[in-house]
Amino acid sequence: MDVTGYFCKVELSYHKADDIDMQTLDAKDLPLLFRRRYGAEPLVFRAPGRVNLIGEHTDYNDGFVLPAALDLSTYAAIAARSDRMIRVHSVNLNSDFAFDLDEPQSRAGAWSDYICGVALELEKSGYRLRGADIMVFSTLSMGSGLSASAALEVAVGYALLSVSGEEIDLLDLAKICQRAENDFVGMRCGIMDQFISCHGVEGAALLLDCRSLEHRTVPIDPSVRIVICNTMVHHELAGSAFNERRRECEEAVALLSSSIKGVMALRDVGVEQLEAHAARLPATIFKRARHVVSENARALAAVAALETRDFTEFGRLMNASHESLRNDYKVSCAELDLMAELARGVPGVYGARMTGGGFGGCVVALVEAFATAHFADAVGPAYEKATNLSPMIFTCFPGPGAGPAIF
Ligand code: ADP
Ligand code: MG
Repeated sequence: MDVTGYFCKVELSYHKADDIDMQTLDAKDLPLLFRRRYGAEPLVFRAPGRVNLIGEHTDYNDGFVLPAALDLSTYAAIAARSDRMIRVHSVNLNSDFAFDLDEPQSRAGAWSDYICGVALELEKSGYRLRGADIMVFSTLSMGSGLSASAALEVAVGYALLSVSGEEIDLLDLAKICQRAENDFVGMRCGIMDQFISCHGVEGAALLLDCRSLEHRTVPIDPSVRIVICNTMVHHELAGSAFNERRRECEEAVALLSSSIKGVMALRDVGVEQLEAHAARLPATIFKRARHVVSENARALAAVAALETRDFTEFGRLMNASHESLRNDYKVSCAELDLMAELARGVPGVYGARMTGGGFGGCVVALVEAFATAHFADAVGPAYEKATNLSPMIFTCFPGPGAGPAIF
């Protein structure tokens, strides 16, 4: 990770350990912490977070997305047990829980849900898991829209399958983790986060068709950088509004499918087609649909722009995506708008937009490589002055998907 000037150390709450400086804890320290807690030698697996370059709120509409896996990741250290107990410790939260794979669990409304959900879905899908002691540690800030949740699910799912001697099919794992988040955690997310956490490619973004799950790598040209600016806010609305948007999209599909043949999802509707049927939709539902339909078109156009090195056009599409998310989909907030605006004002920035579900979290910008040197100093102090919040700004280099951790 190329850390620019305004970078603040990854914000995590650590508990104390004698000879490890918990403030500078690195994933490499995980085996030592694990041995101390559980008295066994662990295997360590890693699953990355992601940044979505364009195609926001399109995945659950069977549409197109362009995410890249991050080097920021969640690590799961694991050792099998002889029984069917799962014990988990989160280093970030300094919190523990345990459950028996043979006793049905119900949702607790806590971080443990992500792990119970994955274990439950794996077993439902026919995998037979062994009990295990697990320690998780993430270098991602949670709830910042970089998908710490999917990284946790995939890292733990990968780890559980590995120690259980089960073969790992990454596509199956991604689908199982999505089901865990949908059905157990209760967040009706699409497949994007889990898919990219499993299938990330170093130095590239992935164009993913969320209906067919066909995908192709789109290399990031070395002359540009992806810069992520964490606003450091997370508005409570995020979870409930997400499910509400999903319901609104379903309403749009129900109304449109009665007059346009073959509409199964908003993916099947074109921009002009939607305009022509505007009268059939309540004003709010029309706006939500207009975002999704136009965003699908922008995602495809953005891939073409990236592949022809037309970064100006890519940046224009990023800016348009942000406006659409703000005005039509209404998932932005004052801090995201400000951060995007400040980023766009920096020389060498092609475009900037909110990324992730919204209501806080991060802005992503496409920046000329040489311009990253002054980017953080231009954006950071101005953002802090206006909001009293110290943002975290960093350049990301797309990394590989889930697998054994390599230190
Ligand atoms: P995002 O996926 O954008 O980071 P979410 O709200 O979907 O935001 O997921 C964040 C949640 O995932 C946290 O509140 C926590 O419950 C869980 N989580 C993620 N990483 C960890 C971790 N390392 N330890 C414990 N819980 C985690
Ligand atoms: Mg999430």
